Amino acid sequence: MQLAEIENYVTKLLPKVGVNKLRELVRLLYEINKRDHAPLSEILPADKNLTFERAKKILLQKRYPVNFKTARKDQFYLPKLELDSVQQADLTPRPFSPKTIYLETSVKDTPLAQRVRAAFPQADFHQTDGKTQVGSPYFSRRLDTLFIHREKYDFLKPCPCSCGSAGCGYNLVNLGFGCRFECEYCFLQQYQNLHAVLLPANVDEFLAKIDEGKFRKGLFDRPRIGSGEFTDSLVFDDLTQYSAQIVPFFRARAHLQFEFKTKSTNIGGLLRAGGAENVIVSWSVNAAPITDRAEHFTPNLSARLKAACEVARAGYRLGFHFDPVVIYNGYQQDYARTVQEMADTLPHDKIAWISVGTLRFSRELKKQIETRFPHNTILDGEFLLDFDGKMRYSVAQRLEAYQFLVPLLRKTFPKAVVYLCMEDPQVTGQF
Ligand code: SF4
Repeated sequence: MQLAEIENYVTKLLPKVGVNKLRELVRLLYEINKRDHAPLSEILPADKNLTFERAKKILLQKRYPVNFKTARKDQFYLPKLELDSVQQADLTPRPFSPKTIYLETSVKDTPLAQRVRAAFPQADFHQTDGKTQVGSPYFSRRLDTLFIHREKYDFLKPCPCSCGSAGCGYNLVNLGFGCRFECEYCFLQQYQNLHAVLLPANVDEFLAKIDEGKFRKGLFDRPRIGSGEFTDSLVFDDLTQYSAQIVPFFRARAHLQFEFKTKSTNIGGLLRAGGAENVIVSWSVNAAPITDRAEHFTPNLSARLKAACEVARAGYRLGFHFDPVVIYNGYQQDYARTVQEMADTLPHDKIAWISVGTLRFSRELKKQIETRFPHNTILDGEFLLDFDGKMRYSVAQRLEAYQFLVPLLRKTFPKAVVYLCMEDPQVTGQF
């Protein structure tokens, strides 16, 4: 529904309402209409005694039927609705084929730069000293630009987790920035301000830092180091061939473990590199309606599990991340089906860990999701401002999700470590 139509409707009902109050009512009507597909006149019927306070209460009750009575009023976040069609995600399937490629001078002759030249002969190539501003004004055009660079500073760091959350002791190497998938909840759409794909050509320098590092073990038997914070760990691996360097490096360091986090089936490099017991290849898994409708361009669950079986046969261990768990009518049956498919398909003794985390996002990301994916359903749930300033389901709804999923996973995969990701310590403490 068009924004103007909703504004007109509210102005007709409450002609004297001020700008800020109008903004709140418009947002609530928009969100209810998007979720329920009900006409505006049914959501907020005309009534000559209607006041702003009364209208807002009616709409909050309808928008938050589960949490209206228990949530604090300052947990409802009702910013101005800004839908910019120019920013909408392009969901036309297409191969990764950057139009413009920048090679930083110091890495222009590296094997990665040579592979890039061979893979994209049609692209417009430029050399740069690394200070040139690259990329598109729009996040949705980020795949048009590829930048092969030398990383100088950001090699290795403890996972920042989320402010106030219970950490798991994870350590991160940032091998790349940008992704070719379009997950509707991806935090990069709000976080990435350089709209291009960046791939470092100096993986050897990243690995050298690992030998100097001091790591936390967290809940696990050995420290965990992983890539995949600002990109999918394997989505570009056929091009980058990072796995060819990473796997032998960690195979020789049994006191550490490395995790590739992915949704892809781009496992050729891993299979060629041979397995390693301390290299964990982990897949993000979800209920089928989420993988199929909110994780655009990604392989479906069955394809991910088939790839997992192949890498397990090659000697790797496996990890899985139920993240983000999305709560909707019937979600428990759908997640149980995913667990069952995993149980029927995977070698259970190869699963090292499984994490679980419910959908959460910053306020800014909410606005990005609604403008880039106006037909999304992931925002239809009841999200409230929470302990870390992010938007989350209420504690009661999260507990219900974890109380269902965590015991199911522990029973099905008794040898795997099952843990919660980026949660309130009070919630984590219950599991
Ligand atoms: S796979 Fe990960 S990095 Fe890529 S779009 Fe999805 S959430 Fe973002």
